[in-house]
Amino acid sequence: MQNLLGKLNTRQLEFPAQLIVQKGAISTSEFLSSQISSRRVLLAIDDGVRELAKANLPHLHNSNSIIYSVTAADFDNVRQIDMLCAQKHIETVVAFGGGKVLDVCKRVATIRKFELIVVPTALSSDCISSPVAVIFDEQGKKLSLPAAIPNFIVVDTELCTKAPERLTQAGVGDLLSNYSALLDMDYAKGRANFDGFSYLLAKSAANEILNMEHKPLTDLTTITQLAEGLILSGLAMGFSGDSRPCSGAEHLISHALDYLQLGTGLHGEQVALGTKYCHFLREQLDLPTLDPRVLNTIERLKIKSTPAALGISKEEFFKALLIAPQMRRDRITFLESLEQIPVEILEKAYVNAFEAL
Ligand SMILES: [Zn+2]
Repeated sequence: MQNLLGKLNTRQLEFPAQLIVQKGAISTSEFLSSQISSRRVLLAIDDGVRELAKANLPHLHNSNSIIYSVTAADFDNVRQIDMLCAQKHIETVVAFGGGKVLDVCKRVATIRKFELIVVPTALSSDCISSPVAVIFDEQGKKLSLPAAIPNFIVVDTELCTKAPERLTQAGVGDLLSNYSALLDMDYAKGRANFDGFSYLLAKSAANEILNMEHKPLTDLTTITQLAEGLILSGLAMGFSGDSRPCSGAEHLISHALDYLQLGTGLHGEQVALGTKYCHFLREQLDLPTLDPRVLNTIERLKIKSTPAALGISKEEFFKALLIAPQMRRDRITFLESLEQIPVEILEKAYVNAFEAL
């Protein structure tokens, strides 16, 4: 009885208090444009969006605010913002920019209490609402660390249509990789906790992009669906308490590329590459594979997702593949049996994924 009652308990989840995804969201948000201008605000940006921040958030360029330019997603920037928040008694941090700025601020929010508002200017990954921050250590290695969920998310879809296309393509890649991660959740069923809610959320998130009409990536409808999908994806990880619903074997390959510091790919591109390879390897192993529309969408939107396009040689790819299962030892994915898979099968999957016409 005790056990059953335990299972029937509802769970407490951290959730952003407010979300706005719309065209002109910044100027129409009463909260952003007037209310917080009377508070002590730290506006975190990166140099690339300095002018954009001035034009979109003029209220935050007053004497009550401090503007901090995030130079890198590293511990030094985390420390600097944390120190400024303490010295200046900051009440609200507004993170305006791409993944680098958002990740640093989300990480600081785990150490210090303030209200965190994120305003992404590009949709390159599901970091907007996820409880994970990617921070580089002193050796330049990428670490995925726990992060606070923002209190307020404002996505100005019009602003995001103007982001470099490659960033938007990467965002689609990260979202579509959910399908590959979900295959691994299915694979691990019975051996790892299967959280149906986070599974459902991660799937619905990716469906946003798979079922969309074929419009360009700068189209407002596409950007809105991508933003909604990425935000749902981040929340799926929040529900799960880990990144499993959005991070399976394909992410392990990407983590291995990061670990070995190979290539020039963005996170979303690397996981799209991983998604393709895992699909063809699963096919060779007679495991369930992806809906062909997933691969078609990666191709149609021209997401860089081959080793050659990301500056990785075939040999380097296999070097990363071989250490991929060690990147998250507690994560059960179909790559757990990698050592038993004959080299010819691994090669065949590579040819089918990246070399076949
Ligand atoms: Zn990801």
